[in-house]
Amino acid sequence: MRKLCMVFVLLLSLALILTSGCTEGPEASASLDKPIVAVSILPQAEFVEKIAGDNVKVLVMVPAGADPHTYEITSGQLRDLSRAQMYVKVGSGLDFERVWMDRLIAQNPDMLIVDSSNGVTFRTMEAHSHDDEEYAEEHDSEGSYEEHGAEEHNESLTKDPHIWTSPKQAKIMVNNTYAGLVEIDPDNQELYMQNRDAYLAELDAVDATIRETLAGKEGSSFIVYHPSWGYFAETYGLNEIAVEIEGKEPSAKDMQSLIDTAKEKDVRVIFVQPGFSTTSTKAIAAEINAEVVSIDPLAKDYIDNLAKVTAAFEKGLA
Ligand SMILES: [Zn+2]
Repeated sequence: MRKLCMVFVLLLSLALILTSGCTEGPEASASLDKPIVAVSILPQAEFVEKIAGDNVKVLVMVPAGADPHTYEITSGQLRDLSRAQMYVKVGSGLDFERVWMDRLIAQNPDMLIVDSSNGVTFRTMEAHSHDDEEYAEEHDSEGSYEEHGAEEHNESLTKDPHIWTSPKQAKIMVNNTYAGLVEIDPDNQELYMQNRDAYLAELDAVDATIRETLAGKEGSSFIVYHPSWGYFAETYGLNEIAVEIEGKEPSAKDMQSLIDTAKEKDVRVIFVQPGFSTTSTKAIAAEINAEVVSIDPLAKDYIDNLAKVTAAFEKGLA
């Protein structure tokens, strides 16, 4: 009965708002005027919300379950973005941002652009490219690999974009996000600073827990399909070995070399993440008798997820 009354009151006030036109109350317009803060990936949404709470509305460009290397933005998202006051980019060379950032800025040239990676020490990871199709074909057959050698088998280093998977880098991202929020909403600086400090303390606590949990595992290796955990590995002294190379499935030769490395390094776990292929992963796992475990580098509940991930590492590392 009480619920019904509430609904009635709500409908009545809605009707009043609709009929009163431009004389709507200050409360209604305040909630409509909340600054919109856009971010690329879900963990960044937690960063913004932990600092600004309900004072802003967060717009996440790469939705849950989508792949930030290939995601294509919708026209609805572009419309929403045109009302954003600020865009916090990851800033580390994430494919989504490399492909879309110019268009996003063109859509809304007035929004403040914050680079959350400002101050991060980037790690490099192996980029691995093959000169041409012909080589790729021959790559699988034994002898030809030797013949062609290094000239056509290019290995180079590229910047690892997955900075957020280490709480150490996340703290830098949070500080940059805070600076941007204060710029668009200086009246709340005091509150945002308190919130930021509380969240940084949470990140320190989870970092301490991870160190404690993984103590003694330094030097351990793990295999991961898509190389999202390089910064996490670096922070905690682990060794990440990726199955996927430059976004592609490994060749038979690559698979064999992975299997050899895995045996040599006593790898017991292969991590996969939602949305990525597991065919080659399963084959390698069967070969080395490792467990395939799913961990999500893009979960929105960043700190809780890190705890889950750490438990998976603890269980899976030799
Ligand atoms: Zn990635």
